[in-house]
Amino acid sequence: MIDSHCHLDLPKLFTRADSVLDRASKNGIKRILIPGTTPQGWCRQQALVKQNASEVALDIALGIHPYFLQTCDLERALSELHTSLSKSPHVIAIGEIGLDTAIECPVDTQQRAFASQLALSEQFELPVIMHHRKSHHLLLGALKQHQFKRGGVIHAFSGSVEVAMQYLERGFYLGVGGTITYPRGSKTRKTLKAIFPEFSDRLLLETDAPDMPMCGRQGMVNEPAYLGEVVSCLSNLLEIDSSEVVNLTTKNYQSLFHPHD
Ligand SMILES: [Zn+2]
Repeated sequence: MIDSHCHLDLPKLFTRADSVLDRASKNGIKRILIPGTTPQGWCRQQALVKQNASEVALDIALGIHPYFLQTCDLERALSELHTSLSKSPHVIAIGEIGLDTAIECPVDTQQRAFASQLALSEQFELPVIMHHRKSHHLLLGALKQHQFKRGGVIHAFSGSVEVAMQYLERGFYLGVGGTITYPRGSKTRKTLKAIFPEFSDRLLLETDAPDMPMCGRQGMVNEPAYLGEVVSCLSNLLEIDSSEVVNLTTKNYQSLFHPHD
């Protein structure tokens, strides 16, 4: 099982990363992708990889998350990102980047950061990890405008079949997480059911830990150890064995993030 999106560098998990990784390993997690959010976070990500003594393999992506744009000097952060990417051949994606219309940060600032990071994705030939919230129309518009071809994953995908199809046609993968474990996730469950099995090669598993706890764990810190609950939910929904869910999402992860291995 691979958790394709876990913020292990954020304080809630970072301060006890050893035990988080130990529990993840005991619950069948083989690999975790840690997406980047801020220049400070990129250092903690690199430290986690260096100090990792667990059985769980760690991958990292670097990027500037829209949540943190107002507290950072964008030009400086972008230039640091460029430098870090040049110096870190083991980085496997650009992200977490994206657009979010539910936060205070002006959309044009977010669009500027997003466009610059799409350009880095093309330059370094890396896929992107995309954050969305009430922003599918803006994201799809930006991908078209910048003729972005590199692809990537729509992190914590939620939305209609029509929206999903537009991403899939552009070569994107869909990150499936805790949303589908809630009754209110019915639209997203319907979408996943509709695109399966045609796009079974585009599904990835993720927790978004420490955020987005699964149904029944509201208010608690989320952890990769709980990813099996997403697998069970997906297995019931798609009417396939849990082992098949794990196998296909593992294969999909490899083809998106480790295409040359
Ligand atoms: Zn995230």
